[in-house]
Amino acid sequence: MKTLLEVHDLKMHFPLKSEKWFSKEKPVLKAVDGVSFSVRKGETLGLVGESGCGKSTTGRAILKLLESTAGQIIFKGEDITHYKGEKLRKLRRQMQLIFQDPYASLNPRKTIASIITEPMKIFGIPKEERRKKLDQLLDVVGLNASHKQRYPHEFSGGQRQRIGIARSLALEPELVICDEPVSALDVSIQAQVINLMEDLQQEFDLTYIFIAHDLSVVHHISDRVAVMYLGELVEIGEANEVYQQPQHPYTQALLSAVPEATPDREKERILLKGDLPSPQNPPAGCKFHTRCPLAEEICRVKKPELKRVSEDGQMAACHFAKEVVAAAPV
Ligand code: SF4
Ligand code: MG
Repeated sequence: MKTLLEVHDLKMHFPLKSEKWFSKEKPVLKAVDGVSFSVRKGETLGLVGESGCGKSTTGRAILKLLESTAGQIIFKGEDITHYKGEKLRKLRRQMQLIFQDPYASLNPRKTIASIITEPMKIFGIPKEERRKKLDQLLDVVGLNASHKQRYPHEFSGGQRQRIGIARSLALEPELVICDEPVSALDVSIQAQVINLMEDLQQEFDLTYIFIAHDLSVVHHISDRVAVMYLGELVEIGEANEVYQQPQHPYTQALLSAVPEATPDREKERILLKGDLPSPQNPPAGCKFHTRCPLAEEICRVKKPELKRVSEDGQMAACHFAKEVVAAAPV
């Protein structure tokens, strides 16, 4: 499979107001702190972690809705890190965002016809074409075309997310970043929307980055999974491997809270100690050491590198994960 997107050592640091006026050190919030991964064309990469771990910020940096502090973003072989103006405008057609909250992301004063066709209008697509496309989009997301002059409040939560999805597909993007698209929906509706997104992926050859705060939501849809903790990637790999043999204690803890993930394995729920530390003042060494059940002295002082832990390329950032050296090509 071809690589569609590469993210190299991405950093998103936000300056904060110093509480100590006499302090020379300017405090920064390291929302994303050196994240690297790639996404293959046509796959779904699940990006998972507790709220505040930097996953949405990573998504917005890729979409260039936020300017990154450092690092490189390569899309279809081109370095888009510093794209501006017309280049950025053109790029925006190929990358779209599906929002977490369909209630908040749809303008209540506009009909759904106008909401869905708006991106096409911005890009100067002729009226006749917009009309045709609108009917096609309503059809593929399973909305009744006779309702297109209605307003968002006249639809249910699941239907509103379908409207949001239709809008995101209006410009025929290649990459869709889905930021917790089902978190605000009832569990019974979540599965329907995820199934729809899988169908659309097939039909339109889409690549997804699917952001979620819990591993159970992305299990079914993801080909690969990446787990973030306090602005860093702690584990990444093929979904099956990560779910069956998580190598990082944080992933193990997250998975232990998902009852259906490993039904054949007797396992105990791993309870994490304490709260998520503030990303403004993260622990030294391994950022997870304050909550990790396996932490030892080294974890407090030395930051673990992301290293290869399986033949298939699963990676984990833990001092005690067993490193697997890739076989030399023959
Ligand atoms: Fe836990 Fe240490 Fe591994 Fe970090 S490096 S995950 S603290 S065992
Ligand atoms: Mg978020």
